[in-house]
Amino acid sequence: MVHLYNFTLPELKDWLAREFGEKPYRAVQLFEWMYQKRATRFEEMTNLPKSLREALAERAFLRSAKEVVRQDSKVDPTSKFLLEWPDGVTVETVLMRHNYGNSVCVSSQVGCKMGCTFCASTLGGMIRQMQAGEMVEQLMYSQSLLDGQGGRVSSIVLMGSGEPMDNYDNVMRFIDIVSDAHGLHIGQRHITISTVGLVPGIRRLADEGRPITLAVSLHAPNDELRGRMMPVNKAYPIAKLMEACHYYYQKTGKRISFEYALVAGQNDSLACARELAELIRDLPCHVNLIPVNYVPEREYRRTEKKQIYAFWNALQEAGINATIRREMGHDIAAACGQLRAQHMNRRA
Ligand code: SAH
Repeated sequence: MVHLYNFTLPELKDWLAREFGEKPYRAVQLFEWMYQKRATRFEEMTNLPKSLREALAERAFLRSAKEVVRQDSKVDPTSKFLLEWPDGVTVETVLMRHNYGNSVCVSSQVGCKMGCTFCASTLGGMIRQMQAGEMVEQLMYSQSLLDGQGGRVSSIVLMGSGEPMDNYDNVMRFIDIVSDAHGLHIGQRHITISTVGLVPGIRRLADEGRPITLAVSLHAPNDELRGRMMPVNKAYPIAKLMEACHYYYQKTGKRISFEYALVAGQNDSLACARELAELIRDLPCHVNLIPVNYVPEREYRRTEKKQIYAFWNALQEAGINATIRREMGHDIAAACGQLRAQHMNRRA
């Protein structure tokens, strides 16, 4: 059986031609049914010949995941859900309704092997990659929640569990599918890839020249500190990472966004803020300060509000653009990997 959400439109054209001898416009019709009319069954696709609909039903499917948990925040318009695939794996997706549009946080892997010491997604290691079609399903689920309210997904952040640069081809295929004008048509400008700092991936993305926004999880201004928080820093130390970031900017002209999770007593001193400012001052960029989310399995404490503002202020004074990330859905464990971790603990 073929998962149709895995096909880009050109691939769908090839497949329909090869398997059923169909003309390219049929693929366009099918693609529009899938993404614009949100059909979930082939019977609904009334402008396709009945014989083709029947043949498709025998050979292909659209959705394969089921929702096992769904939580709607009571404090803000955020919904989080956990989808389960037929092989039993689960990943979480978050839908955030902002006043400027609806944004979906997609998971790119089941678990993660990067081992960041503050993160819940990496606790059980990496189980398997998410296929492009499975990432598309996460988006279609989010869109189906919005359809009832007349809304559309307007932006995507690859900031769920997993490391997108460690699943590069599937992530790019996912982006090709959801940005297609015959489909959901979410512009690449409205898509953000967040990476732990895999340098070859950053350079490859720069060479592709896509207008995607790059977010880099920096979290510390020097190798000593970053190495303790993020094992990946041993393979790609800060100097190499910064070189790749400059390269990205040169190639794409796009400002980089740095994520910096503030952990009490670790990376939140004013000396760290100044060191950070020094490190990134000659690169057009933006810093997102994130009060670290509590993960029961980890002993990190979050920085006090007063110190968060002092840190922010020190960056501003050094001429660095920074914002403090507004928390969404903290009552529903909406940080990466938390819902899945809870679910697995309960199952065990
Ligand atoms: N693997 C990618 C994307 C997934 S995580 C990456 O590392 O960028 C999305 C962001 O959440 C990353 O910046 C990650 O470092 C951060 N994050 C993970 N655990 C966190 C926690 N407990 N509190 C705050 N941010 C966290």
